[in-house]
Amino acid sequence: MNDATRVLVLNSGSSSVKYQLIDMAGGDRLATGLVERIGEPAGALVHRAGDARRTVEERYPDHTAALKAVAEELRRDGLGLDSPELAAIGHRVVHGGTRFTQPTRIDDAVLEALRGLVPLAPLHNPANITGIEVARALRPDLPQIAVFDTAFHATMPEHAWRYAIDKETADANSVRRYGFHGTSHEYVSRRTAELLGRAPESVNVIVLHLGNGASASAVRGGVCVDTSMGLTPLEGLVMGTRSGDLDPAVIFHLHREAGLGVDEIDALLNRRSGLIGLCGANDMREIARRMGEGDADAQLAFDIYVHRLKKYVGSYFAVLGRVDAVAFTAGVGENSIAVREAVAGRLSVLGIELDSVRNGVRGDSPRLVSAPTSRVAVAVVPTDEEYEIARQAFALLRQD
Ligand code: ADP
Repeated sequence: MNDATRVLVLNSGSSSVKYQLIDMAGGDRLATGLVERIGEPAGALVHRAGDARRTVEERYPDHTAALKAVAEELRRDGLGLDSPELAAIGHRVVHGGTRFTQPTRIDDAVLEALRGLVPLAPLHNPANITGIEVARALRPDLPQIAVFDTAFHATMPEHAWRYAIDKETADANSVRRYGFHGTSHEYVSRRTAELLGRAPESVNVIVLHLGNGASASAVRGGVCVDTSMGLTPLEGLVMGTRSGDLDPAVIFHLHREAGLGVDEIDALLNRRSGLIGLCGANDMREIARRMGEGDADAQLAFDIYVHRLKKYVGSYFAVLGRVDAVAFTAGVGENSIAVREAVAGRLSVLGIELDSVRNGVRGDSPRLVSAPTSRVAVAVVPTDEEYEIARQAFALLRQD
């Protein structure tokens, strides 16, 4: 182990790469950026490092070209991939199946195993794998570490992760609840305990990660005991474009009666449902604006979204028995005063008393929005998945 303390975090999507270079010595963000529209005629790279901000508009035919461009931007700021201070590259990987429940150093065998998991996450894992392959080619000698979205949920007891379907069929096809957004749930639950001034082991938290995708988790003493997403990120809460929970028979019905094929139903439930399916908009800001103008569809979409959230909060109270805090995070959770008010308001029966003044204050640091007399704390905790990936990758290096 040398004294290199920087970790480059890569989050490779199908047509984008997000990156952050973080110095784990003090947690400083040395550079952040994004390459968009990879493979399309007009791509763009936005790079920030200190006061420098550069936008490059160019065609990036593939992830190799995109990552080479990222490496070049980092080099221009003296932060190149060949820097001796770079300790590792941490990769976000969406699905780790049952095999990868910890941050994992990537070698050929791990990469092969990740390829084997593609059927479980066909939309996400292939891009994550491409990012890893390109990064390994650029710096073959550097530790490359995979951090999985599913990993934090691996502690769920079997009665929470197993679906009540024929066991043999489920097991033969790896059908179970895995859960996603794990790095966010882990980070936010830990930060919530810190905000309360208590050890994570002594705190029970319900985390509501409300971004475009959305999921809830029940965390007992720092350990996940249940979560709302399932085999895929489709289950659970109402999301920007995904339905979340529904009667599985809806699928048979649409197939038999409406003649929709399985791919059409997949697209319907993943891309044309949730808020966008209900009111034509998936951005909570637009929905709030339209509600203000008396738009009935926007109001109904909001009400369905909130109703589902309330059901999960109530059921996770029952699962945990004792709840110390409900934590809101991600784009909607961090910013929508109205969603927090609607979910946590009028829950005094559960010991939740929101403070409407505190809830109305905007900010970007973790904060309490409950009344001082509230038995259960309500917190807004901005998520930081990149930092959590860097932290876990760096911790793994230290163990080696
Ligand atoms: P993801 O990472 O899942 O793409 P984010 O966590 O960035 O998503 O959340 C994006 C969503 O956050 C937007 O679609 C929008 O609904 C919501 N959002 C962002 N800013 C605000 C705001 N000021 N008020 C209400 N909602 C917001």
